[in-house]
Amino acid sequence: MNDKNLLDVLIFAPHPDDAEIGMGGTILKLVASGKRVGVIDLCRGELGTKGDAEIRAREVEAASRLLGLHYRGNLDLGDGRIMDTHENRLKAAEAIRRFRSPHVFTCTPQDPHPDHRAAGEMVQAAYFLARLPKVETESPAFSAKHCFYYFLHEMQHITFAVDITDQFEIKMDVLRAFRSQFVDPDLPPDYKYVGTSDYLRQIEAYNRTIGGRIGAVYAEGYASDRPIPLSLPTIIE
Ligand SMILES: [Zn+2]
Repeated sequence: MNDKNLLDVLIFAPHPDDAEIGMGGTILKLVASGKRVGVIDLCRGELGTKGDAEIRAREVEAASRLLGLHYRGNLDLGDGRIMDTHENRLKAAEAIRRFRSPHVFTCTPQDPHPDHRAAGEMVQAAYFLARLPKVETESPAFSAKHCFYYFLHEMQHITFAVDITDQFEIKMDVLRAFRSQFVDPDLPPDYKYVGTSDYLRQIEAYNRTIGGRIGAVYAEGYASDRPIPLSLPTIIE
């Protein structure tokens, strides 16, 4: 593989809009700073009440362009059926090895959606397995440096946050590229408690609340699988 194809950051998303919801502002920031960022969706969103797989594929393409992603792929593990199995772990481990990305992101397993929970556990295991030479996949073993979790709903487990105030409006434009999900969702009358027609405003409130906790207007929250060293003398003002 040509070095040009390697990534600095590899993000796994259970559904084809979760990376944008959880860390769209951070992705914009990373790409603007010259980092090579890729997203691998774990399914095609074919079970979604809003839109269908074909519409969602077009929306993913539009959103990826707006974000400036260097790669967008899909492991096609089945919407509503994403499971933390050994077979799926190996597929994700192979992706980590292939792109040799030192920084891996996945959705937090502390999430009410079963696909999100499974994606968090499965990718965390894959990140570990990817470094073991005797675990065989197509590409050779690779030790990534970090596995970070991004958040879609809850805040209790966030341990650090990224200020996305300057990126927030573009993040909203990226999310509007998912027209079937956020702009003109065709919702059945009894559709409740899954997602609502004003979901963009919910995301705004969520990012605003996290921002408030770090003295920023908008922020996205994260956790790390291991302690992150902080240089105490320099952060104490
Ligand atoms: Zn999702």
